[in-house]
Amino acid sequence: WLRLKNLEIQGFKSFPDKIVVTFGDGITAIVGPNGSGKSNIVDAIRWVMGEQSSKTLRGAKMEDVIFNGTSERKPTGYAEVTLVLDNSDGELQVEFAEVAITRRLYRSGESEYYINRSTVRLRDIHELLMNTGLGRDGYSVIGQGKISEILSQKSDERRQIFEEAAGISKYRYRKTESERK
Ligand code: ATP
Ligand code: MG
Repeated sequence: WLRLKNLEIQGFKSFPDKIVVTFGDGITAIVGPNGSGKSNIVDAIRWVMGEQSSKTLRGAKMEDVIFNGTSERKPTGYAEVTLVLDNSDGELQVEFAEVAITRRLYRSGESEYYINRSTVRLRDIHELLMNTGLGRDGYSVIGQGKISEILSQKSDERRQIFEEAAGISKYRYRKTESERK
């Protein structure tokens, strides 16, 4: 199984300065008043795992994830999030016991992705997390309204969730990729 170790956020949504969220062994709860940034932390987790829909991240365009300033603070030039996963069980197909995934977005629209500080493509992040329940098509981040969405889905859409959970989606993806070639 995979465990979140920590999350570093800088210049993302309401966090201009670097913050580090450390996940312990038990359950982590984030508490705070309305508008204090709890959901923004969850958005950061989705975003670093490769989310491409600004709507899912509660914005109109992807640039909206970059801290856009307050009366006292200038906007930041980029947003950066790093998620560190404990891979000591080897669930991820890489030889590292700890895997740090980083995503950075500049106002110019330029994006960068890293795995353990080495530049990778978005596709590499997607493939790394595929079949783990994390990542773009994962079910591990359940937002408001997601349960009712799942219940109202058509059967083949719902099947995708079960295929991801069963670890089959990777093979379907590879089949589609090889057929395309
Ligand atoms: P609630 O308890 O109401 O759900 P919350 O703690 O989940 O609140 P969030 O939705 O995480 O709050 O944070 C909302 C705040 O984040 C708003 O004040 C909004 O202005 C701020 N915010 C969102 N995007 C940006 C951005 N790009 N730059 C600066 N602030 C932002
Ligand atoms: Mg919220």
